[in-house]
Amino acid sequence: MAGLHKSFGDLEVLRGVDLTVEPGQVVCVIGPSGSGKSTLLRCVNRLEEPTSGEIRVEGIDILDPEIDVDRVRARIGMVFQQFNLFPHLTVLSNLTIAQRRVLGRSKRDAVEVARHNLARVGLMDKVAAYPAHLSGGQQQRVAIARALSMDPDMMLFDEPTSALDPELVGDVLDVMRDLARSGMTMMVVTHEMGFAREVGDQMIFMDDGVIVESGRPRDVLSDPRHARTRAFLSKVL
Ligand code: ADP
Ligand code: MG
Repeated sequence: MAGLHKSFGDLEVLRGVDLTVEPGQVVCVIGPSGSGKSTLLRCVNRLEEPTSGEIRVEGIDILDPEIDVDRVRARIGMVFQQFNLFPHLTVLSNLTIAQRRVLGRSKRDAVEVARHNLARVGLMDKVAAYPAHLSGGQQQRVAIARALSMDPDMMLFDEPTSALDPELVGDVLDVMRDLARSGMTMMVVTHEMGFAREVGDQMIFMDDGVIVESGRPRDVLSDPRHARTRAFLSKVL
């Protein structure tokens, strides 16, 4: 993405963001609350319309007014802090509904893909369960499996473990680590610095709508170059 700007009224939330995510890379995004991390991710899958700038995913200009927004969202999976499952649908139906409606898959194909992805996140035994009967960590793994069922080119994670009880965080991070190893392109907003250090190829520190610093996670974490990065890390590490 290049020269990305986003304003809400008079408030300029993204003030010129340039970032390249290579296929297969995991980019971890850190920064204080209100710095624009969620807005950045939301622009990437068109939940927000950037005010100006360019975003290309696998060479396709996703801000092209001609492009089908549902297709963009299908190709770029997003996982939120609050899992956002459909509460009235079973786990299986949560995974098949968009495959059928957006991708036009047959019921049989959609179920097969859903089962494959539930196995991937270790929840084959929950196909018939409703979200309310699952732990937060299980719901988040279902949300990941749901996004994967659309065969995305890229996955966006916005603080996926922040709403979880501490003992449930590890299982979700394990799933994300496996996904990264499988070669998925990922952008992850997270405060899990251990995960970022181990799995991230690139770390960006955002403050006040710009990327202040970027580099290999271990370099940014152990030897931050900017005072603002140092100040932030001293509060969270
Ligand atoms: P972060 O995820 O880093 O905490 P956000 O991207 O959520 O930051 O928000 C950045 C700024 O944009 C905040 O000041 C927030 O209040 C503002 N903001 C986010 N979404 C909207 C919106 N839909 N309307 C108005 N202001 C918004
Ligand atoms: Mg946020």
